[in-house]
Amino acid sequence: MSETENQDLLAMTHLGEEPSKYMKSVTPPIFMNSLHVFDTVDEYFSVDIFKDEYYYGRASNPTVAILEKKLAALEHGVRAVAFSAGMAACTAAIMAVCKMGSHIICLKESYGPVQHLLDDFLIEKMNVSVSYVRGTKLEDFEEAIRPETDLIILESPSTLLFSVIDLEGVAKLAKEHGIKTYIDNTYSTPVFQKPLDMGIDIVMHTMTKYIGGHSDLSGGVLISRDEELMRGLMIQRDRFGSILGPMEGWLAIRGLRTLDVRIRRHYETGMQVAEYLEKHPKVKKVYYTGLKSHPQYELARKQQKGECGLMSLEIDGDEKATARFVDALNIFERGCSWGGFESLAIAYTYNWTQEQQDFLGVNRSIVRLHCGLEGAQNLIEDLKQALEKV
Ligand SMILES: *Cc1c(COP(=O)(O)O)cnc(C)c1O
Repeated sequence: MSETENQDLLAMTHLGEEPSKYMKSVTPPIFMNSLHVFDTVDEYFSVDIFKDEYYYGRASNPTVAILEKKLAALEHGVRAVAFSAGMAACTAAIMAVCKMGSHIICLKESYGPVQHLLDDFLIEKMNVSVSYVRGTKLEDFEEAIRPETDLIILESPSTLLFSVIDLEGVAKLAKEHGIKTYIDNTYSTPVFQKPLDMGIDIVMHTMTKYIGGHSDLSGGVLISRDEELMRGLMIQRDRFGSILGPMEGWLAIRGLRTLDVRIRRHYETGMQVAEYLEKHPKVKKVYYTGLKSHPQYELARKQQKGECGLMSLEIDGDEKATARFVDALNIFERGCSWGGFESLAIAYTYNWTQEQQDFLGVNRSIVRLHCGLEGAQNLIEDLKQALEKV
């Protein structure tokens, strides 16, 4: 095991926790408070929220701070700032980096609600402009860069069609132009991919997925090596009122303790399921970066130490046949999230307009699967009987 992997395991289990401060309890308390009180006026006015000192729950919370220490260490950043959802974290990063008139480059394959945020709010109300690019070639970014470009929004692999972005290449290009880079690293988790080591400026995770891991919390986090940016984000979070709740912070700490074992099992199961599906006559195509047939398999191997349980497939049939397959699944439930213990399926493009299909170059027969922890054999049996309905 590498030095990094050893450090990661300690971060996920113990780092940031001080049992001697809370009666030697092996788990930290949930600091379920909205404020802290003081003995004197001077004490109140000398609080420094950047040094683990606390005065008001909207600014910072001790349980959330334990989680943030772990995540900063896991991503090799200087500080992490946790938010009430992945989207709150994403919004915070955009607001911290951009201004009126900024130009943003965003991947066509980026998470849908991020595109809605850009299209419906930032373009509409804040005079921001956006170029959507495929991003699988560096030239896609080079051609889109303008003098007013301030931010590149990345996701690698993406979570519908699983394209991989050359992170070192994009980071280098962006630095030459004074542009900040942001990546949604939720797919890989910090266990399998560390974008800051490849020169990316800001990492985001939605903790709602694998970090929480049990489909029982919403949360997001930003991590970076830029101390000034991170301090600014802590203040911004206070202004916007978007801090992660203490209960959610505690659940995410608990989720992290088993992240390493869970993600490795999701990977193992994902590989077996993807290999099964790839050979099935009713499956036209499988989108999974663990498969040798993936067009960017080599790049994925260079950047990622593993995969997770998320993949897509194209059914050999129309959207009605695709829906019959999804409806016939027994263990896989029908739902839009992923990263929990449970397997999920969604007919992602079922009702897409022609325009939406053309934008990504897909038809209406794309199904996204999340392989949970029910075991590869059970999942393959379930897929097998449902594919017979196509
Ligand atoms: C779910 C998801 C998000 C949003 O996270 P929330 O916590 O629901 O706001 C962002 N990116 C990806 C890739 C996701 O799957």
